[in-house]
Amino acid sequence: AAFYKELPKVELHAHLNGSVSVQTVERLIQRKPHLNIEHSMTAIGKGQRRTLDECFEVFKVIHKLVDTEEDILMVAKDVIKEFAADNVKYLELRSTPREEKDTRLTKKSYVEAVIKAIQQCKNEGVDIDVRFLVAIDRRNGPEVALETVKLAEDFMLSSGDLVVGIDLSGDPTVGHGRVLLPALERARNSGLKLSLHMSEVPSQLEESELLLNLPPDRIGHGTFLHPEMGGSQSLVDRVVKHQIPLEICLTSNVKGQTVPSYSQHHFRYWYQLGHPCVICTDDKGVFCTDLSQEYQLAASTFGLSRDAVWRLSERAVDCVFAGEAVKQQLRQKWTELQPGLL
Ligand code: IMP
Repeated sequence: AAFYKELPKVELHAHLNGSVSVQTVERLIQRKPHLNIEHSMTAIGKGQRRTLDECFEVFKVIHKLVDTEEDILMVAKDVIKEFAADNVKYLELRSTPREEKDTRLTKKSYVEAVIKAIQQCKNEGVDIDVRFLVAIDRRNGPEVALETVKLAEDFMLSSGDLVVGIDLSGDPTVGHGRVLLPALERARNSGLKLSLHMSEVPSQLEESELLLNLPPDRIGHGTFLHPEMGGSQSLVDRVVKHQIPLEICLTSNVKGQTVPSYSQHHFRYWYQLGHPCVICTDDKGVFCTDLSQEYQLAASTFGLSRDAVWRLSERAVDCVFAGEAVKQQLRQKWTELQPGLL
């Protein structure tokens, strides 16, 4: 286990409010005892499984606990420090800006709080490079999506490279990507990178066809893209042709039951193709995991050697949304750390 912990890692698929640890939830509960929320409502423990619907209920509970600027700042700082303690050297956090009338939280102040957290961690010398993807919750439709893109554009210019892209996420059984295309095209044209959840459930083939026209810069999950899972060869061919990396979240997919078991996870299919796959946590708090555990799980399930695990973490650097200079710095870091580990 020490090897996986010491391995320098890149985390590219982490939803802020799904990443909140038990310790941070404890502090939030103390701030808001009147909500009567217990730990069992915010995390899915070892061996437990939920339906995807039930997972989305968990996020609603966490959103009740995180509804002020101070909460967001605390949660984001805690999450960043936890990833850093797990030897994550580069992190892309994603989160859906929310407004809360009662606490005067606005979508703008929401994003500002996340950026402040990133800057404060940097000033405190936390050894991790953090970027932010502004998330579109598909449930909220085209107008909100467009508003979100505009917000991201403003922050891309004002945040000094911290806002690098857009995430499309939310309950995959709600809404259709077709109506979100104008917002996503606008984002792409203004230089924001796109990480889109695609084919997380079986019914999304037509949507995936459409989204691939953009094309996205990375794919979240992509569980049902390939023919063995009811997808199609043409989808696979397009993903391969554009070399679009897949963000792979093993524990999340098994606990959320979109994948029946670890050994049947679609990582196997794409990894065997030699396609870029990045191991990620998705929601480390809700699914009670961390990135070291996910790497270890990939290694034990698919029989990966230490060399192979190292290459997996090294190749993740190629998939980050920050610019070439950052990639070079990260490659340098990996080169320096390699002799101590392999
Ligand atoms: P937040 O955006 O920081 O509030 O993080 C929680 C949100 O992330 C949820 O409400 C969903 O919109 C999204 N999310 C987290 N996990 C998943 C997933 O597995 N699939 C799709 N969306 C997700």
